[in-house]
Amino acid sequence: MPSVAKAVIEAPPSHKIATGLRSLLVGEDPQEVERLWQKMYQGTIYFGRRGVAIHAISGVEIALWDIAGQAAGRPIHELVGGRQRNSIRAYASTLMPETPDETKRVVTRWRGEGFGAVKLGWGPLGRGAEADLALVAAAREAGGPDLDLMIDIGFGWRDAADAIERARRMSESRPYWIEEPFPPDDYDSYARLAGAIDVPLAAGEEETTLDDFERLIERGRVGVVQPDVTRAGGISECLRIAALAKKRGRRCVLHSWSTGIIKAASLHVLASMDEAEYFEYAVQSTELNQRLVRERFPVVDGEVKIPTAPGLGVELDEEVVERCRVA
Ligand code: MG
Repeated sequence: MPSVAKAVIEAPPSHKIATGLRSLLVGEDPQEVERLWQKMYQGTIYFGRRGVAIHAISGVEIALWDIAGQAAGRPIHELVGGRQRNSIRAYASTLMPETPDETKRVVTRWRGEGFGAVKLGWGPLGRGAEADLALVAAAREAGGPDLDLMIDIGFGWRDAADAIERARRMSESRPYWIEEPFPPDDYDSYARLAGAIDVPLAAGEEETTLDDFERLIERGRVGVVQPDVTRAGGISECLRIAALAKKRGRRCVLHSWSTGIIKAASLHVLASMDEAEYFEYAVQSTELNQRLVRERFPVVDGEVKIPTAPGLGVELDEEVVERCRVA
């Protein structure tokens, strides 16, 4: 929510633990990223700790790592743990079309672009059990038996008992995971569903900080946690979340949507994770997604290369910034 995040940054100091980020940062050394993260977290505790304050801190943290990397002449992943891989498998991520025929066309298109995995989400999913099954079956039919097919329900299912029935029937189409069947606060429904089906549940794109992910794992019992580097607390916090997931025997697949900045930041996190399974590659044709930065992140044999230029390794297209600017 850009205008709200902007207010979190620009708000003048109210008192010691209720202060906008700008006044906490001006005059500081931008290369002391971890100390400044703590300073931002402590200075916003009365209105922060979760939600938009952490989103704003995440954006600043990514910018600080970009500065630190450019100053050092090294890519961010070398500063936060080193490069464990040079590329990573990508899954094409897009919205679920309205009809089975359109779903087949979309899956066929992204298969044709070299993706070995596709996620379809939101849109009509959740409106009716039969319609859900027809859409997912169409995706499986078009993608073939070896496609990894992620399904994102977008909070569309209502209660655990009904969801168990729907998920069991959907498992015939072999979803790779089922994502966000319930609103994010329904941890007990997540736990009930996770305990009743074999298909892994994925969730976490709304969670912020390591503490939220600990709750999602312990109480929600999801198998795949999905921190978003621009919301969960930034690059270092995502690495801590990935380490927690591994320790608890869960998988961590970052959520990533809509711009080349998040693509680059996510790729640096993925480069440094001990185990990295997939990169969520948003394929929307919007200007923000396709042209905000000059890099195009080509998919070759289903994989995307980790950026190696200093910092984030991407350059903004200032003309696109001007066109998309809202404040
Ligand atoms: Mg999602």
